[in-house]
Amino acid sequence: QETNQKPHVVVIPSPGMGHLIPVVEFAKLLHHHHHFSISLLLPSSSPPTTAQTTFLSALPPAISLTFLPRVDSSLIPSNVAHEVTIHLTHFHCLSHVRSALSSLTNVVALVTDLFGTDYFDVAREFNVPPYMYFTTNAFCLLSFFHMPKLHETVSCEYRDMVEPLVLPGCVPLYGKDFVDPARDRQDEAYRVFLYQIKRYVLAEGIFENTFLDLEPGAIHALKTEDPNRPEIYPVGPIIKSDLGGEANEGLECLSWLDQQPPGSVLFVCFGSGGTLSNEQINELAIGLENSGQRFLWVVRAPSNSSQDSFFTQGSDKDDSFGFLPKGCLDRIKNRGLLVPSWAPQLKVLSHKSTGGFLSHCGWNSTLESIVYGLPMIAWPLYAEQRMSAVLLNEGIKVALRPKAKESGVVEADEIARVVKELMEGGEGKKAREKMKELSE
Ligand code: UDP
Repeated sequence: QETNQKPHVVVIPSPGMGHLIPVVEFAKLLHHHHHFSISLLLPSSSPPTTAQTTFLSALPPAISLTFLPRVDSSLIPSNVAHEVTIHLTHFHCLSHVRSALSSLTNVVALVTDLFGTDYFDVAREFNVPPYMYFTTNAFCLLSFFHMPKLHETVSCEYRDMVEPLVLPGCVPLYGKDFVDPARDRQDEAYRVFLYQIKRYVLAEGIFENTFLDLEPGAIHALKTEDPNRPEIYPVGPIIKSDLGGEANEGLECLSWLDQQPPGSVLFVCFGSGGTLSNEQINELAIGLENSGQRFLWVVRAPSNSSQDSFFTQGSDKDDSFGFLPKGCLDRIKNRGLLVPSWAPQLKVLSHKSTGGFLSHCGWNSTLESIVYGLPMIAWPLYAEQRMSAVLLNEGIKVALRPKAKESGVVEADEIARVVKELMEGGEGKKAREKMKELSE
């Protein structure tokens, strides 16, 4: 009863741990700084994973959690891009959100994320102002605002554009580095993407998980380029507020880290859902081995889809590492530790022995690396990660980037070279200094 009388904010993240974590952290701050009570409504089309359940079980009392009725999987075609799955999941939850809004009183705002723009209309039906929490960088948001015009003026696939897109205050962005759904203009994912981003102007305001010193150019452009855009609020960096997980989570890797020299370990992790092909895992294993550096690697079984674990992240998979090159485990055992599937990333990044982060450049991972001042190796896989890699490598200059062969595979020699450079070389030193500055 009491929660119903306080100013109330309805918060709806997109499915997937990579959306859930940042949106919930934002909701916690809305409560912490402004005393709103929060209704967290969760749309989904698959059962919650162990990692999600653990995360949700630690919500503060001011956030009341409602799992919306699960969308029948028969309503979502198999083999569609995950943007389409998310879009359809939201679409089939509109009526549930409508009934939730009609049963709540004193709702002062609805906040959703980048794929939830259909909820804007439902919010307006109840005279509730709709906001977006854009969980990634300003460079990306700015490119989205330019996309509809690009759609009108460019006829080829964006990857075939000769000239890069030059956004005010930003490094040039080639079409090959655009976000995933803009990589194939014939795909349903592109249609869904354009539909969503054209609706961004309907928001009352957009909160962004970035900060002025990180992206001054893009933020300035977002605020000044077009008076018809919603107000932009750079409120980042927002990362998980506690180091997360259960007390004994990842004990093995933390006590291993305790035994390593300060700043000596490269943490290797591809986010909550990233996976590599068999060939690429082999090259990475040999590259890490040959780099001569210490490393802690969150290893997932190989898959040919780079985001195979997106909706199942944290589930226990093969931990025998039988897919790694023969003899590899024995040869690295004094220098490298492999962890199956999931590690307590924040605890690892904040550990004094960790000195660098080989990351898929998911935005949460990136901000976590910035907060703890760790230089990066950018290894983008999907979503907006190539764009973030360009920003980190060419723009802010806090990440090194290995070169892939034409086939897309990064070879062991190149991996060994870049890892060594990051941990011991001059480029690594510069990136580390810049990261320290940002961290401060
Ligand atoms: N994460 C973690 N342990 C893992 C993998 C990921 O704790 O083994 C956390 C990480 O700290 C981050 C989030 O999961 O907060 C991943 O978000 P990000 O935006 O980096 O990537 P995504 O999972 O969305 O691709």
